[in-house]
Amino acid sequence: MNLPKTFLTTTTVGSFPKPDYLKKARTQFSKKEITREELEKLEKRATQEIIQFQEKLGLDILVDGEMYRGDMATFFAEHLTGCKISGLVRSYGNRYYRKPVVIGKLEWPGPITVDWWKYAQSLTHKPVKGMLTGPYTMMDWSFNEYYSNRRDTALAFSEVIAQEALALEKAGAVCIQIDEPAVSTKPEELPLAIEALSRVTQNLKAKTISHMCYGEFAKLYPKLLDLPVQQLDLEMANSDYDMIELFKKFPFTKEIGLGVLDVHNHAAEPKETIKKRIQTIFEVIPPERIYVDPDCGLKTRTLEESETKLKNMVEAVKELKKELLTYA
Ligand SMILES: [Zn+2]
Repeated sequence: MNLPKTFLTTTTVGSFPKPDYLKKARTQFSKKEITREELEKLEKRATQEIIQFQEKLGLDILVDGEMYRGDMATFFAEHLTGCKISGLVRSYGNRYYRKPVVIGKLEWPGPITVDWWKYAQSLTHKPVKGMLTGPYTMMDWSFNEYYSNRRDTALAFSEVIAQEALALEKAGAVCIQIDEPAVSTKPEELPLAIEALSRVTQNLKAKTISHMCYGEFAKLYPKLLDLPVQQLDLEMANSDYDMIELFKKFPFTKEIGLGVLDVHNHAAEPKETIKKRIQTIFEVIPPERIYVDPDCGLKTRTLEESETKLKNMVEAVKELKKELLTYA
């Protein structure tokens, strides 16, 4: 399996909406009304459906849709030795969620996502991304009751995530995304995030991507370019491409995962709008270093909304490619 040698490669960030039958099954499983095997059967069915959905849309690099996950931090924490999950904690507003708690030495118990990746990859001839949560974010989103400080905790997470990343690569993943959405919330800790992530990516040959999610990137830029990954995936549509001015001052030296769909907005962006958004970036980054995707995961949208948005995105890229080749 090789990555497409092209330009304006299309992909998505990771999550897709879970179908109703799976939401229902997850509730039933939490009440012990169905078995783990029964739940897993439906998670596999949903994964298969979302792979077909992406193939039909004509996306270049696929994701497994995260049908088997709830929250991106607790999913990993549930599987790690040295971690447990807290009771319900209140977050912003009235949402409650569970947080990982580090209660002992963190250890990798063996592959966590590899079987899911292999399953998703077996359903398509297009590359499927490996998807991990980065060490800085795992540390920042956990309670720590074992290590003496934030750095030690982050570096302990690095060790286990590095092993998972290598296992994905060994299984055949040519593209591994290591999400670090917490980085933008504490700019003063960027050096720690860089140190922690470098221990994950240092021995990888696969293409490495980090999704940064929302935040005040202006405070982190250009230092952000020191994150040891080949591609930074940035939310750009929601913030109306205000980073471009910074890119003019300090050249963006990596590949960019360019968010062109605002996932907080129900309405699908017209094709022409998406084309303009991509063209704006040509001014500062050449097409061969641009990957086109939504701002963030699509799990908060309906499948129908995701479909219309992505259809327009793929169409927009198709037309732009044609224009670029004609005028080349
Ligand atoms: Zn995001």
